[in-house]
Amino acid sequence: MLVHVLGSAAGGGFPQWNCNCPNCSRQRRGEFKGAARTQSSITVSADGKRWLLVNASPDIRAQIASFPALWPARAARDSAIAAVLLVDAQIDHTAGLLFLREAGALEVYCTDNVYRELSGNFPVLKLLEHYCAVRRHVIPTAQAAEFSVAGATRLRFTALAVASKAPPYSPNRQRPQPGDTIALGIEDTLTGKRLFYAPVLGAGEPHLLRFMERADCVMVDGTFWRDDELALVGLGSRRARDMGHLPQSGPDGMIELLRPLAKARKILIHINNTNPILDEASPERVILERAGIEVAGDGLEVEL
Ligand SMILES: [Zn+2]
Ligand SMILES: [Zn+2]
Repeated sequence: MLVHVLGSAAGGGFPQWNCNCPNCSRQRRGEFKGAARTQSSITVSADGKRWLLVNASPDIRAQIASFPALWPARAARDSAIAAVLLVDAQIDHTAGLLFLREAGALEVYCTDNVYRELSGNFPVLKLLEHYCAVRRHVIPTAQAAEFSVAGATRLRFTALAVASKAPPYSPNRQRPQPGDTIALGIEDTLTGKRLFYAPVLGAGEPHLLRFMERADCVMVDGTFWRDDELALVGLGSRRARDMGHLPQSGPDGMIELLRPLAKARKILIHINNTNPILDEASPERVILERAGIEVAGDGLEVEL
């Protein structure tokens, strides 16, 4: 299985267009040791020919342009993207669907909760139906439920419910339901290798840990280093955990959570522009290196 990181930043990207935090302002001035990043999305393939998009970021056009394997190669109108899988209904993970409107048909896999949001409160899928065929496929909502994706029969998928938050526009924002957010387990049935992908992860829930322990690569929520990171750079009082993101540092943080995973390659993705780990010269980056944890950049490739 091939995994290609199209985008590795959280919502807003890095640098964020209106952000003057130390990271963003230094990056803009060319005084920062660390690459700019587009908003998070990965693409996965068993054979290197047909690719599944996991989340469709608002940066999708540039992301497709950055990765020739996704370019049209077989017909006048064509794409190597066989289907789009969504882990939630957040704007930074779904708005890119709008820019796939030129497709003849879009195969979209999502939970019932996500489908409801994307057909009602943020009706991206309904809008798209005026431009192309939208074929929606159900991702089951349970603690852990297997499903398959047409066009990727060599891969076996597990949807894992994640305790996080529905999007700010959702009436369920303060009443999270199973299926608002999922993690994905993807197993290559030929090689037996497993990927655990959770760009949004609020806590180390037992059913998630059970899958993570068996994974060969865990690619997880790298949004914030500290719970109070936004306050620290003068950007309000919202805390990482209140937004459904487990911060990396501190007791019960992501570093602690990943520590027992001896065999897995550990990679942080969905990194907020305020996070000090974006700076390759930061002491936080040294802490991660010592813990055997990588920081995803756009274009990172993982072969499993
Ligand atoms: Zn996000
Ligand atoms: Zn910033």
